[in-house]
Amino acid sequence: MRAVVTGGAGFVGSRVCEALVDSGAEVVCLDNLLTGAPGNVAGLRGHPAFRFEHCDVAEGFTSRAVRAALRPDLDLVLHLASPASPVDYLEHPIETLDAGSRGTRAALDLAGEHGARLVLASTSEVYGDPQVHPQTEEYWGNVSSVGPRSVYDESKRFGEALTAGYRRAFGTDTGIVRIFNTYGPRMRAHDGRVVPTFVRQALAGEPLTVAGDGSQTRSLCYVDDLVAGLLAFAHSGHPGPMNLGNPHELTVARIAEDVIRATGSTSPVVQVERPVDDPGKRCPDITLARAELGWEPRISWLDGLARTVSWFRSRSRGAA
Ligand code: NAD
Ligand code: UDP
Repeated sequence: MRAVVTGGAGFVGSRVCEALVDSGAEVVCLDNLLTGAPGNVAGLRGHPAFRFEHCDVAEGFTSRAVRAALRPDLDLVLHLASPASPVDYLEHPIETLDAGSRGTRAALDLAGEHGARLVLASTSEVYGDPQVHPQTEEYWGNVSSVGPRSVYDESKRFGEALTAGYRRAFGTDTGIVRIFNTYGPRMRAHDGRVVPTFVRQALAGEPLTVAGDGSQTRSLCYVDDLVAGLLAFAHSGHPGPMNLGNPHELTVARIAEDVIRATGSTSPVVQVERPVDDPGKRCPDITLARAELGWEPRISWLDGLARTVSWFRSRSRGAA
């Protein structure tokens, strides 16, 4: 098995690279380090089954080094390259649109050239601010095409349409997974997403910034569970779209309380303005993943949170 992981130096991608190498696969990690970091794949450097190449997937796979790394054959292309945190995609709006459009097209062409399977990492954001709850794959979503979040939501929706189009037009072996909020070690302390932000704030004794009254919900999946589901999907041959996430739904206020308890912090909670178009609720229906992959999350929220806190603590000790 030879696999390409675009966005392989990111939070999720680096865990995917490790899991693939552990399973005996050869992995080519392509990343332009826009929101990822070489440190995320430091543990794989020098491994004979792992290769990192700096590459902007939106520009295609034209450099000589990248072309050489992709030879002679490929079985799987996992397309994860894209900013994923609202803070990141609002800072890099055009790069985000490019990663989902030109990047997905380049990844599909690559898979087609090699007769490989392409797996697109899509997102629960394709459901927008959902009017169906929990979200099933049949739901078409409630998305603004011009709001600030649209650069991410619509790039993923376009990526899905392109992927479905390649499957119909060229018979490319494709699969679409819709990933719901995932957290865990290796998230950047300042990436803006709720778990790393609250953990960083709690450990620093700073106020936890709850957006609005905190009654909006998210369903948080520990990264190891997500990676297991993603790889099961990659090997299944299923076309998707398929939801992957943890259906245990929490309000943001509850997430803040749990982080304060897990860190033993005395930080207060303060209310800050809700971001524009912030979805009010989100929870995956994972009936399809359970039936087709025999997959479901195993790591509870409090267990995953404890692991995450301990990772952030060890990082801050290392930095001190
Ligand atoms: P991340 O920001 O940590 O990782 C994204 C990686 O893609 C980074 O290493 C970045 O440098 C790289 N990248 C971005 N644009 C690129 C380009 N043009 N060429 C090459 N590399 C590029 O984010 P993540 O949380 O690991 O997300 C990974 C994927 O999973 C993304 O596609 C994201 O949309 C999807 N996803 C993640 C979540 C989540 O909660 N983590 C939820 C839904 C979907
Ligand atoms: N959030 C918050 N405080 C923060 C960061 C995020 O209250 O410091 C909220 C955010 O408004 C949203 C939820 O937490 O309602 C999840 O945000 P995140 O950016 O993690 O993910 P997404 O909005 O993409 O689901």
